[in-house]
Amino acid sequence: MSGIVIAGAGQAGFQAAASLRDNGYAGPVVLLGDEPELPYQRPPLSKAYLDGKADDEMLRLRPQSFFDEHRIEYHPGESLVRIRRAERQVELSSGRRLAYDHLVLATGSRNRVLPVPGADLDGVVQLRTRADAADLRRRLSGVRRAVVIGAGFIGLEFAAVAVQRGIPVSVIEATERPMSRALSVPMSSFFRAAHEAKGVRFLFDAPATRITGENGRATGVETAGAGHVEGDLVLVGIGVVPNVDAAVDAQLAVADGVLVDEQLVTSDPHISAIGDCASFPTPFADGRRVRIESVQNAADQARCVASRLAGRPASYAAVPWFWSDQGSLKLQIAGLSTPHEEAVLRGAPAGGAFSVFCFARGRLVGVESVNRPADHMAARRLLAGRIGITPEQAGDPGFDLKALAS
Ligand code: FAD
Repeated sequence: MSGIVIAGAGQAGFQAAASLRDNGYAGPVVLLGDEPELPYQRPPLSKAYLDGKADDEMLRLRPQSFFDEHRIEYHPGESLVRIRRAERQVELSSGRRLAYDHLVLATGSRNRVLPVPGADLDGVVQLRTRADAADLRRRLSGVRRAVVIGAGFIGLEFAAVAVQRGIPVSVIEATERPMSRALSVPMSSFFRAAHEAKGVRFLFDAPATRITGENGRATGVETAGAGHVEGDLVLVGIGVVPNVDAAVDAQLAVADGVLVDEQLVTSDPHISAIGDCASFPTPFADGRRVRIESVQNAADQARCVASRLAGRPASYAAVPWFWSDQGSLKLQIAGLSTPHEEAVLRGAPAGGAFSVFCFARGRLVGVESVNRPADHMAARRLLAGRIGITPEQAGDPGFDLKALAS
């Protein structure tokens, strides 16, 4: 028996290995991770870890003893470089070959590279790995002014930590509002105002065209539309691209992610794909394909595949949810709130705690909440149970959401 090989030891790969054992799978489980350390969680990298409130130990998903006890053969620093589908083998960076009964691709995503001159200057950084975060944490103590390119979740989480430490932060964004790809207009406006109140300066409709430097060190960012913005640290946070090189090379079906079916099987029945690298059809977008970058998605897809490989196949149907902590604000999203046709407010933004109920095609598709965890939990239940709610009910503060959802 060759067993199951999992490529990628992030949130999804780790969970797949652990869940295989939880589901009673007794065969060999091999986990390949190209990073040189034990699997860890990424969310604290732009929050508590960056701020020095969490250490390496707290990031770890499990200690080495867990892998030993569960007979998970973990290979740190070992990448999958080629899939030989005909032989059902993988080639590793060490030159070794491994046979598999089933291969799980959990290779995640990597930061999109900013295609402008100066991107290689010292002081231009990104944030994806623990090593990136450790480097950024070290640099933060000597920074005079920071510039963030991209007003997405990671850029804004970083901005919240940096201003809190007294570092002036400018955020340059190519579109007209923060987190525009993922959030409704009212929620986006609320976060803009909250960051501005803490001292963050935004420049919208201002794509970066060049990073300026002196003696090899970054001095700022030239934009189209908003001139030059000074800064000796430039954090580039312009999104990610899925790691699909091995899948493309093996001629699996790929289009913004490895294409999988409802059960997360790729175009080869002996290969599955999960987490940030997978593009899957979801009932939460009328069967449309999505690729979701969240801990929930990585972990739940891993559980779904592990259950199938242990003999209990099921379609992947978990409600998508996500969170982002930006300073004292906790944003939670249930469902897929964009695109939507109608956005209804519940609660008042002025009070610092409210939700936006997003409707499309005549029904609820997602709920964005800030500092309203009860709304978030109710929204997850409404979406999971396909329980109907009208825009009028959602916007009525007297309407009992909890009762409807239970
Ligand atoms: P990854 O975590 O990227 O893991 C994939 C692993 O596979 C990586 O270690 C990669 O190096 C490795 N790999 C790639 N290619 C190969 C190969 N060929 N062979 C072997 N190994 C390979 N989500 C939330 O829900 N809430 C948050 O607050 C949040 N905050 C975040 C903050 C930061 C700074 C980052 C970077 C992400 C955050 N996310 C958050 C997103 C979340 O962490 C990801 O969606 C999740 O980690 C995806 O898990 P994954 O296993 O699919 O991919």
